Amino acid sequence: MKQATFIERDGILNRVRVERQHQVSPLTMEEFVVNEAIAPLLGKLKAAGLLLIATTHQPGLSRGYQSRRELDRMHDRLRQTLPLDDILVCPHDETDRCPCRRPQPGLLVEAGFKWHLDLDRSFVISDKWQDAEAGRMVGCTSLLLQSPWIGNVHHDFVLPDLDAIVDKVLRLRTKSGAVAA
Ligand SMILES: [Zn+2]
Repeated sequence: MKQATFIERDGILNRVRVERQHQVSPLTMEEFVVNEAIAPLLGKLKAAGLLLIATTHQPGLSRGYQSRRELDRMHDRLRQTLPLDDILVCPHDETDRCPCRRPQPGLLVEAGFKWHLDLDRSFVISDKWQDAEAGRMVGCTSLLLQSPWIGNVHHDFVLPDLDAIVDKVLRLRTKSGAVAA
């Protein structure tokens, strides 16, 4: 079985605006600025044999203010710029009560089936507590970027920057690889 790193899109892979202490997802190509500085870091994870799966929650699809076509264009750019294996989207609103809106772990479970993942030996990188909670429910190790959104629920690590997060994943991966052997 494979190991993966799940990476929250907004705030990690692309920049977000912050309004009244809330992140505002970009809705158009013009607003969509990929965090290109993360490309070499993701390359290191990929070289270590980890699948890279972006996850994102875009309720604008369900609510009608995010166009699917525009989102596909943004994600095409994301794939062109960063070495991602997959991008999984929860398109729902909280009233849809779907199993994939974090902190529900539906996207991670779906990816687990699709990619034959060992979720116990996979990782979640985010700047939000909801992703750490989703990861906890399926056994992933969570690494949060220090931010105003990390909350008080369980997470495995909080680190000051993405370099430190990627170094940590690489060290943990080596350790779990040794256990598996
Ligand atoms: Zn959903």
